[in-house]
Amino acid sequence: MKTWTTRSGLTVTQILGGRCNVFLIAQEERHCLVDSGHDNRFDALYNRLRRLGVTPQSLRALILTHSHFDHAGNAARIKTAFATQLIIHESETEYLRRGANPVIQGSTPLTRFMTDAFLSQALLQRFCRYTPAACDIAAKARLDLQALGITACLLHTPGHTPGSLSIIVDESIALTGDTLFGVFPGSTFPPFAADVPQMIASWRKLLETGCSRFLPAHGCERSRATLQRQYEKYAKKFGL
Ligand SMILES: [Zn+2]
Repeated sequence: MKTWTTRSGLTVTQILGGRCNVFLIAQEERHCLVDSGHDNRFDALYNRLRRLGVTPQSLRALILTHSHFDHAGNAARIKTAFATQLIIHESETEYLRRGANPVIQGSTPLTRFMTDAFLSQALLQRFCRYTPAACDIAAKARLDLQALGITACLLHTPGHTPGSLSIIVDESIALTGDTLFGVFPGSTFPPFAADVPQMIASWRKLLETGCSRFLPAHGCERSRATLQRQYEKYAKKFGL
């Protein structure tokens, strides 16, 4: 498990990898979990949380960057196992309650062909279902986590989905969900997005924070320099 440390000593640990990175933020004896992974990884997630000393008392919140199945798949079980509160953006609470999302849209010619023409929408929707969960705190444009004892805030960074959130930890590390990807070399561009220009504008919001490290839910860390280069390229392309 890889761990990053901020200037004030908060730690961010990548607790699950593979299909979806799940991160644990720790500040002294307090924790926040960011995303919950695909539902076939529950045992691994639960065991690693316990091994890291996470308890119902220490886990202040489960934050979902958005309501897609590979991020929210274990939300209901984590919420029950740790009696914790669940935070998601207000525009995605209903998807979470149903355990289903609108069909994802490709953001490149190839992935758009896949989602619009090649794959059955009904099949996609069935494949992307997960156990529903209830939201406890609905985030809006910004939500400070200081009330939970964690030096971090949630920033609304829409585009991949309308309610995508990024978690800004100690103004130094951003957990970006799918707002940006770290899969393709030198790129931050996700293969799926509901609104690409809106997502590019969210990259600018992320660059306006003091963060130097950007940890996506898919792939590896991206630097500020890489995100800046990608922002300039796509802002020009979309006339932003
Ligand atoms: Zn997603």
